Amino acid sequence: MTFNPASIETNQPTAEQLTTLHWQLVTAVLDGGLIALGHNNILAMSATAQELLDLPLNATRAAFFESFACEDRPAIQRALSRLPINKTTEIDVSMPNGYQRCELKIRCVSDASTASGAPTHIIEIQDVTSDLAAQLTVLYSASRHRAVLEGLREGVVIIDHKGRVTEANRAAAMIFARIDQLPMVGRMHADILRGATVEGRVLEDRELPTFRALFDSAATSDVILRLEGSRGPRWLSFSCQPIDVMTGANGAVLSVHDVTAQTLAENDLAYLAHHDPLTGLFNRARLRIEMQVALAQRRATDNMTVLVLDLDGFKDINDSHGHSAGDEVLVEIAHRLRNSCRQNDRVARLGGDEFAVLLGLDNGDASEFASRLITSISAPISIGDSSVSLGASIGIANSTGELDTEYLLMCADTAMVASKRYGKGISTVFRDDMLDRVLRRAELRSSLESAIENDEFTLVYQPKMRLHDRFVVGFEALLRWTTPAGEAMSPADFVPIAEETGQIVPIGRWVLQEAAEQLVQWQAQYERPDLTMAINVSARQLTDSTFADDLGRVLSATRVDPKTITLELTETMLIADPRVVAEALATLRAYGVLIAIDDYGSGNASISYLRNFTIDVLKVDRSLVLALDDDPLAGQAVVRSITDLAASLQLTTVVEGIERQDQLDVLQSLGCEEGQGFFLAMPLVVADVDRYLNGSIPATSSSQ
Ligand code: C2E
Ligand code: MG
Ligand code: MG
Repeated sequence: MTFNPASIETNQPTAEQLTTLHWQLVTAVLDGGLIALGHNNILAMSATAQELLDLPLNATRAAFFESFACEDRPAIQRALSRLPINKTTEIDVSMPNGYQRCELKIRCVSDASTASGAPTHIIEIQDVTSDLAAQLTVLYSASRHRAVLEGLREGVVIIDHKGRVTEANRAAAMIFARIDQLPMVGRMHADILRGATVEGRVLEDRELPTFRALFDSAATSDVILRLEGSRGPRWLSFSCQPIDVMTGANGAVLSVHDVTAQTLAENDLAYLAHHDPLTGLFNRARLRIEMQVALAQRRATDNMTVLVLDLDGFKDINDSHGHSAGDEVLVEIAHRLRNSCRQNDRVARLGGDEFAVLLGLDNGDASEFASRLITSISAPISIGDSSVSLGASIGIANSTGELDTEYLLMCADTAMVASKRYGKGISTVFRDDMLDRVLRRAELRSSLESAIENDEFTLVYQPKMRLHDRFVVGFEALLRWTTPAGEAMSPADFVPIAEETGQIVPIGRWVLQEAAEQLVQWQAQYERPDLTMAINVSARQLTDSTFADDLGRVLSATRVDPKTITLELTETMLIADPRVVAEALATLRAYGVLIAIDDYGSGNASISYLRNFTIDVLKVDRSLVLALDDDPLAGQAVVRSITDLAASLQLTTVVEGIERQDQLDVLQSLGCEEGQGFFLAMPLVVADVDRYLNGSIPATSSSQ
């Protein structure tokens, strides 16, 4: 259908031609899909409509209907038949393929009931498939976006360019519900985050991560803000991403995590890293920091003073009243220390019953201060219904100028140990010569490490005799150490260090094995199966879980008769930890070995104390033998009471340190059965024991 303007003017058109002509004009100027529907067929159709309906020109009216999906045809029919002249209606229909959709704008131009060549309806047809698809896509992506957002465990908040919240997912709503109960959408983000702090400082609006995203187009990640919630503080971690950075931010996406639990745990850890959980005082690590800070703030001429304080008698309280009472006492001591100190002083618990005070500059005389502390600590402390009293030993170290804080603490500690040695309950100011001792210990400690592998240990054996006929009943194994430098070390010097470091455990294992093997050999060699061996065991070994197994292994490996082995424990060990010791002793006695209490009378264990333990031998300390010289009557009374007690408990008494004939005589008269001492026999090396047992040398001539 082409438009020929000439024909309009030259020919007098009929009405039908006129309509067609109008039609041609209309379709020529409009690029839409237009259809002139006649009574029986399509009268005219624009190219767009033809293409859309895929119908030839002059297609029948029925064919027109068939261009649409069956289910829509009745609606089209209704629209066509019921529409009054000059009225227009719109109807959405599908094409037979099911997915293509059209919008029909139908205008009735003449009565459809009269068959004539004129169009009954002019129909504008528009393909709306793509619009719909686009809408659907939008709808689909919006719902997918929602689904994704709602599914996230992370809170997501979308903010528009003005800073107003336009969207917040469920997780975000839950997070912020703990801050305030107000809905988020529609509020300004700055109102929601107002009052947020970082490290105690309230942030200004422009410092909020959201502001930076909105107005500086800057992304921020993992900024942790503290917000005051309805039930206490919450810590939220924010990451903020500006939207559309290219054209200037027109919004921001904020992701939020509630990190309160994690932060509280971290805070706890940080607190624990610097504080003693029991007393709330600083711990050693924090004291070190405080010392360094103080050092940095002081002038070179300023003095820095540290006190180390150790309680006297705390262990007794722990043992007699239980550990929770011990804890109560420590808390009370911490309280007293705090009260005795000035604001600039720093108080720390170094561990156990050891405390330290770093004195502030304004604090006066340290020794005077120390005695005030001792007085304050010595006041009775009530635990439940009872009250206990403690003392304190203090070491004071001070230094000016350049110093190593750790060294200063060590000096104070050394001075504290000196206070303990001098009799407790006093303070001592550190002197350089005290450190020689410390250094020497450190040196010994490191040499001890390789002593077993390097075969630096040997045992000497001191014969133990029946006093009335000097018959050798057995030996005591005594440890000797020759250091790599060739120095012969006394166990009195190195055993305490090995106990501190725990090295006594492997050393003691070696002693046990060596002494048992030696005993078995002598028992066989001299046909003396009754010969006994006393082996010293330190507290540290006794409480070590491996000791009982070690003993069992040695007994079965050497096949020694357990009754001929006596384990010697010191009296102080019993006092220190009676419960643990009683348990350990029961385990050891189950192997059949005997137990001796060594150095009896050197500590302060009351005689009745012994009844708590199942023991076999009481070794009377050398100090009681010496006491016989000082005050013979009193000394004899003490020894007599011990031998009486031993007899009543059916224990054997062995007296140590008999150096003279007269001592031997007195002790014998007091009921002592057995003894050791330089007068009877020196500690002997193996070869000398052999010569002695052969009768070729007197035991008192060889010594080690
Ligand atoms: P202890 O068990 O009381 O041993 C007795 C100490 O007194 C020994 O000192 C011995 O040589 C010494 N002694 C013996 N008779 C006399 C005397 O008449 N006069 C004097 N003045 N002293 C005498 P030693 O060998 O120096 O041992 C000291 C302490 O070291 C021992 O005291 C014991 O507690 C400990 N010790 C020794 N060997 C070991 C061991 O293998 N393991 C453990 N854990 N400790 C050991
Ligand atoms: Mg001993
Ligand atoms: Mg002893």
